[in-house]
Amino acid sequence: MKDNWKPRTRLVHGGTRRSQYNEVSEAMFLTQGFVYDTAEQAEARFLQSGPDEFIYARYGNPTVAMFEERVAALEGAEDAFATASGMAAVNGALVSMLRAGDHVVAAQALFGSCLYILEEILPRYGVEVTFVDGTDLDQWRAAVRPGTKVCFYESVSNPTLEVIDIAGVSEIAHRAGATVVVDNVFATPVYSNAIAQGADVVVYSATKHIDGQGRVLGGVILGTQEFIRKTVEPYMKHTGGSMSPFNAWVLLKGLETIDLRVRAQAATAQALAERLQGHDALARVMYPGLADHPQHTLAQAQMGSGGTVLALDLKGGQAAAFKFLNALHIVVISNNLGDAKSIATHPATTTHQRLSDVQKTQLGITPGLVRLSCGLEDTDDLLADIQGALDSI
Ligand SMILES: *Cc1c(COP(=O)(O)O)cnc(C)c1O
Repeated sequence: MKDNWKPRTRLVHGGTRRSQYNEVSEAMFLTQGFVYDTAEQAEARFLQSGPDEFIYARYGNPTVAMFEERVAALEGAEDAFATASGMAAVNGALVSMLRAGDHVVAAQALFGSCLYILEEILPRYGVEVTFVDGTDLDQWRAAVRPGTKVCFYESVSNPTLEVIDIAGVSEIAHRAGATVVVDNVFATPVYSNAIAQGADVVVYSATKHIDGQGRVLGGVILGTQEFIRKTVEPYMKHTGGSMSPFNAWVLLKGLETIDLRVRAQAATAQALAERLQGHDALARVMYPGLADHPQHTLAQAQMGSGGTVLALDLKGGQAAAFKFLNALHIVVISNNLGDAKSIATHPATTTHQRLSDVQKTQLGITPGLVRLSCGLEDTDDLLADIQGALDSI
């Protein structure tokens, strides 16, 4: 790969390895192990394996390596480790570097499973976690202290779409010597400049936009070569959260089209947000691409887009939200996002059901809130479907 290749070229050619057959499309190496020519070669490889020498698929695999290199090339990260799911990536990035006595500062607006790791699992092993309003840099300043090991947040939060200042938090964290770990799913790899803006580690659920067609689970941890090889890899390869070669192959092909897909989905999200604003049934349309979003300016500077997801707050609470969901014909009710199919989710009763009412209120997860992930359908068809469902309430 050439250093001056632009993102779309990197997405098509980055990381490619060809077998002796010189295939055009990347080969799927559906193998768990590799044969050694001699006993001496096996011994040497266990002692120190080179970048294209493989031992066991839990440690690495040629198809998985192609995926890792391609994502790293897009993100501008030195290295990457592919994981079985987005949650394996979040867990692996955090647990591989934390130990009892460490302190973590995290934004409170998090995906339910991320919150479970921070609230339930880390404290069990003696890690202290302080939660802050991630959009308020003063709260980060007050919470970070000498000895804070990690600052963790979603750069755009799920489902309320708060945008967090990556450069701002990084500066505060780095002054205390803390590592900044960003869950960047909603920003997407297409609009991310997180590492350039100061993040040390970026994690993705590849299940979302990288697959983008709702087929497989996957995740990836990106960072310096030192962090990925010395901290993440030993933890992941010995605890079993590695990505399967089949999923890596699907996701590798997903990367080839992610730029086109995500830009089209974000354009639809922007158009729908603008056209739905002011509808009688809606208390609020939340989308970082709208001028009235509290972090609109930051979102433009940080991502150059509002992303592919918007949130609608229906005036009539849960009853209205359910009526709306049940009246949709094109948009499906499900809980993935970033998919080619537009998906509507009622966070309060599904993805964020586990939270207490107090937590939900604090995070803005109202009974009327519906998260809408924009797909690749025709924008006018989607608008008609959504407007029709809103009108029917
Ligand atoms: C979906 C999601 C995850 C978890 O990813 P999986 O692939 O489902 O394990 C983590 N963080 C965010 C922000 C997500 O949206």
